[in-house]
Amino acid sequence: MHSRSRCRNPEAGSDVANLTCRAEKVDGGWIINGQKTWCSNAHFARSILLIARTSNTGKKHEGITQFHIPADTPGLVIKGIDTLGGREVNDLYFTDCRVPDSAVVGEVGNGWNQLMAGLNTERLILAAMQLGVAERSFGDTLAFITERKQFGRPIGSFQALRHRMADLATEIECTRQLVYSVAQLADDNPTKLLPREASMAKLKATETSKRMTIDAMQMMGGYGYATEFDAERLMRGAIISTVYGGTNEIQRDNIGKTFGL
Ligand SMILES: Cc1cc2nc3c(=O)[nH]c(=O)nc-3n(C[C@H](O)[C@H](O)[C@H](O)COP(=O)(O)OP(=O)(O)OC[C@H]3O[C@@H](n4cnc5c(N)ncnc54)[C@H](O)[C@@H]3O)c2cc1C
Repeated sequence: MHSRSRCRNPEAGSDVANLTCRAEKVDGGWIINGQKTWCSNAHFARSILLIARTSNTGKKHEGITQFHIPADTPGLVIKGIDTLGGREVNDLYFTDCRVPDSAVVGEVGNGWNQLMAGLNTERLILAAMQLGVAERSFGDTLAFITERKQFGRPIGSFQALRHRMADLATEIECTRQLVYSVAQLADDNPTKLLPREASMAKLKATETSKRMTIDAMQMMGGYGYATEFDAERLMRGAIISTVYGGTNEIQRDNIGKTFGL
């Protein structure tokens, strides 16, 4: 089915706990073998946080441990993946990669719970980033449609564009209120898991930035497609934000589960 041999570990995508990258205990440390598909900016990193399977209890959420891996560890190969966004993400290959006991982050076997504890923050950061992308895209578009004239008047004065901008401004304001309120909840109680609210913030902000940046390109006409403006770059970044950090289908599942569905 896959045209690329690099997709060797397809089960560990949305089904994160199904990961197969293994760390085996040896005297004084661990030996890691396997692959981590998709790791943003690993080619710039000095160290990488890896979750690997350290025991097999038969339950996929157990026996997972987090490791801190220096990027220059022998046996670790970082290979770029070509994407629409350019060189931003990598595959990591571990071959008999030896790390000391001190590389363990937190507790051996507790990696899944540690991962869950960080999800509020991860989802909120992604939501805040995409809120910023949407706001930037709105501002750029507003400046463009105010300046650009057709039929003797600024294109922003046509109702088709004015109403579209009004809808987008409303969407962005709703998103801003949601993201800020969830951030406040997380600040008020940093250890509390917010599975519904954090997933809502990620879902809403990424869908808003995707809609905003795609609409921006339409409203800017051919100029939105040209690389001399940032519109196409913002759109390329926004359209993948509904995939990484847990796809938006998975965020909807998370929200649904909090209602007992
Ligand atoms: C640019 C980029 C950067 C990334 N950076 C990182 C990173 O730094 N660290 C990291 O760990 N990961 C990273 N990822 C991986 C990212 O988190 C995964 O791509 C994402 O979780 C989806 O996994 P997948 O690509 O294997 O898709 P799949 O899981 O195969 O999903 C494919 C489609 O099926 C849908 N689907 C799957 N399961 C279900 C279900 N149960 N219900 C409904 N729909 C479902 C998905 O929503 C999606 O639409 C990155 C990915 C990209 C593209």
